[in-house]
Amino acid sequence: MKQIAIIGGGPGGLMAAERLSAQPGRVVTLYDAMPSVGRKFLQAGRGGLNITHSKPLDEFICAYGERQTEIEPWIRAFPPQAVRDWVESFGIQTFVGSSGRVYPEDMKAAPLLRAWLKRLRAQGVQFAMRHRWTGWSDTGALRFQTPSSVVQCQADITLLALGGASWPHLGSTGEWTQAFEPSHLAPFLAANGGFEINWSAIFQAKCAGQPLKSVALKITDKHNQAWLQKGELLITKQGVEGSLIYQASRLIRDSLIADGKVDAELDLLPDVSHSRLEQKLAKPQGKLSLSNVFKRAGIDSLRLNLLREQLDNNALKEPARVAARLKAYPLAITQARPLSEAISSAGGLRFESLNKTSEIITRPGCYAIGEMLDWEAPTGGYLLTAVLAQARYVAQQIIAQQEIH
Ligand SMILES: Cc1cc2nc3c(=O)[nH]c(=O)nc-3n(C[C@H](O)[C@H](O)[C@H](O)COP(=O)(O)OP(=O)(O)OC[C@H]3O[C@@H](n4cnc5c(N)ncnc54)[C@H](O)[C@@H]3O)c2cc1C
Repeated sequence: MKQIAIIGGGPGGLMAAERLSAQPGRVVTLYDAMPSVGRKFLQAGRGGLNITHSKPLDEFICAYGERQTEIEPWIRAFPPQAVRDWVESFGIQTFVGSSGRVYPEDMKAAPLLRAWLKRLRAQGVQFAMRHRWTGWSDTGALRFQTPSSVVQCQADITLLALGGASWPHLGSTGEWTQAFEPSHLAPFLAANGGFEINWSAIFQAKCAGQPLKSVALKITDKHNQAWLQKGELLITKQGVEGSLIYQASRLIRDSLIADGKVDAELDLLPDVSHSRLEQKLAKPQGKLSLSNVFKRAGIDSLRLNLLREQLDNNALKEPARVAARLKAYPLAITQARPLSEAISSAGGLRFESLNKTSEIITRPGCYAIGEMLDWEAPTGGYLLTAVLAQARYVAQQIIAQQEIH
């Protein structure tokens, strides 16, 4: 019987365990440092488990940017529809939300994880919790720290599925990097995270926590190439976050790293032209207060408060200036929020350290999967889809190789 060690019980490790335990002939043991598996997966379900996306496959694959070439074979072998079919194999229906994102019927991860673990136990997967992998011994054995001792295990095949480095209290601390040569690693960076803006204390008190809907974000790089997208974001005490910001987070982050600044501006009313806005604001004020003049022009209190951050009372009475600021509102982003708060991370084990089947070149028989690899994608189901697809792809390669030998 082949001994298979899977280290890391996130969606990547669990999916590999499911495939590798599906037929007899292999003993699959899943190790995790935490007392239970799937903690980040459960957290993902708290805000609505966006498991995949319904857009056409060719467009879907573009979400992986620089790593599209490496990731494409995984996704083609287990495309978004297969992800939905897999969720539905547990008796959990999926649906497409208005944004095209796909969710399980109740949006949660817990019922799916429960059913998944039941399937894995029925297939004979063994679970070794509170086993923190710390690297390899001199003889190549896997070394674990448990609450009481150091344990060593031999395995014929090892899959590392140790996650990235965001939300470390859920288990993915990134400490596994200590087991690798620095040349195998790209530094971890926040992906799909928020950014800081020095809002005034008044603005923070009034507006933090409010969603800013139906805006357009424009990021212009130093070559004058513009990225433009409509969507919604969330005003936070420290700055901004939310889906529109996450979509641009890589551009913003890389620009801050390279140039120390980013050219980011919002169109606060993308569906109304500058001249129309100016006309609306220029109507006689009569007895109306300033805020009612803005309301009449279709400018809500959040947008007015944003304007107050940049324009004084005199400027607010000039329709042309107000219209110009609404159509091009500079976002004075200073820095990224910490990696620990980000939804995911970029960086990790470099693809150059792996062969085409994700086997670590310097460690034959040891594979690396999931967010611990150096790729990133926006929110929208792209993260989970790639993690699940890669785990299946690698498990399939391992099964195929064993059948040959
Ligand atoms: C708030 C939030 C919301 C999210 N929402 C979505 C979403 O809606 N859609 C989406 O696609 N993605 C979402 N994600 C991202 C998604 O959860 C991750 O991409 C996914 O969990 C990564 O899977 P993984 O198996 O690679 O790693 P992880 O899920 O991070 O699992 C890694 C596992 O390895 C274990 N581990 C780490 N180090 C060791 C060690 N040394 N020894 C033993 N075990 C170790 C950890 O305890 C953990 O169980 C969200 C993430 C967060 C934080």
